[in-house]
Amino acid sequence: MIDLRSDTVTKPSPAMREAMARAEVGDDIYGEDPTVNRLQDVGAALVGKRAALFVPSGTLGNQLCVRAQAEPGREVIVEGQGHIIRYEQGAAAALAGVQLHWITGRHGLMTAEQVEAAIRPTDPYSIQTALICIENTHNAGGGTIYPLATIQAIRAVASAHGLPMHLDGARLFNAVVASGVSAADYARHFETVTFCLSKGLGAPAGSLIATDDLALLERLRRFRRMYGGAMRQSGILAAAGLYALEHHVQRLAEDHAHAKRLAARLEQIPGVSINPAVVETNILFFEVHSPRLSAHAFVAALRQEGVLLNAVSPRSCRAVTHLDVSAQAIEQAADAIARVLA
Ligand SMILES: *Cc1c(COP(=O)(O)O)cnc(C)c1O
Repeated sequence: MIDLRSDTVTKPSPAMREAMARAEVGDDIYGEDPTVNRLQDVGAALVGKRAALFVPSGTLGNQLCVRAQAEPGREVIVEGQGHIIRYEQGAAAALAGVQLHWITGRHGLMTAEQVEAAIRPTDPYSIQTALICIENTHNAGGGTIYPLATIQAIRAVASAHGLPMHLDGARLFNAVVASGVSAADYARHFETVTFCLSKGLGAPAGSLIATDDLALLERLRRFRRMYGGAMRQSGILAAAGLYALEHHVQRLAEDHAHAKRLAARLEQIPGVSINPAVVETNILFFEVHSPRLSAHAFVAALRQEGVLLNAVSPRSCRAVTHLDVSAQAIEQAADAIARVLA
C-alpha cells in the first residue's frame, strides 16, 4: 500500500528503534530521565529558546499553551481552519474554558490587519483577548508557509496590545526546510512554540513546547500533570525524537519535491483539477471531476489499486507525502489515479 493519507502514518525505522532500545531512562516526573532532558535541551536550542517540555502529543502541547496563557473566560484568536479549532475536540472550551475567535484566512494564513480587527477593546463590556495562535505550516490550508513578514506584522500588532503569541508548529520544520528561514527566526516572535516529532520527522509519538519564559515553563509542567500528560521512563520516546531531529529534518525536502512532482503529474490527468503553484510543502489538495465518482468513491476505488488517500469533501481529496513514500511510489500513485479516472 502507498499510504498518502497523512504524514502521521510514518513508522519508526530500524535505526530509530535501535536508538529507542538503547535509551538511558529515569523517572521524568522527578526530572531524572537523561534522554528526555537531552531532547528538551536539543529541541529548545534548535528553535532558539531557553527551555522545552516534552509532551505526548501536539494537541496536548497546543492545549497546555492555551491553558497556561489564557484565563477561563478570555478569548483566543485562531484561524478558522486551524488544528486548535477543528481537530482538538473542543478542548480549548472544554478544558481551558476559553472562547475561540476565528478569522478566515487565505490558505489558512491570517493578515496582521485581520488580527488587529479581531482584538477586543478593553471597555468594561467586551470579552478580553488573551492570546493569538498561528499555525505554520498550515495543515488544512494546504501545508502553507507563513511569510516571515506576515508573522512580524502580526507580532507588532500583538506587542502593541500586550498580547502573547503561540506558534502551532506541528510541521514547523517543513516550513524551515522549504523556506530557508531558520526555526529560531520563526520562533523568536512567539512566547510559546510547539512542534511534532512524529509526522514527517518519523518518531512514533511526542512533541516539544519551547519557551524563553522559565516561570511559564513551570506552569506548563503543572498543567501537563493536570492534563495527564506527565510520563515516567519516556526517554524511550525521547530517543526517537532525538533521532528524528538529527536524521529526518533535512530530508523533508524530499517530501516537498515528491509533493510537487505528484501535483505536476495530477495536473496532466483528465478529471483532476489542481493548482501546483499552491503546493509549498508536503500537503496537496486536489479536486476530482468525474461523472461517475464522488471523491469518496474515487478514494475507495483507488484503495483497490493499492493507494490510500483521504477525501475531504464531495469533490476534494488530500494527499500527504512523507518519509515512507519513495519517488517511485509517487509515480505509481499518479499512474493509479490516472487508471481509476480513465
Ligand atoms: C498534527 C497536528 C497537531 C498535533 O496533533 P496530534 O494528533 O495531537 O499529534 C497540531 N497542529 C497541527 C497543525 C497538526 O497538523
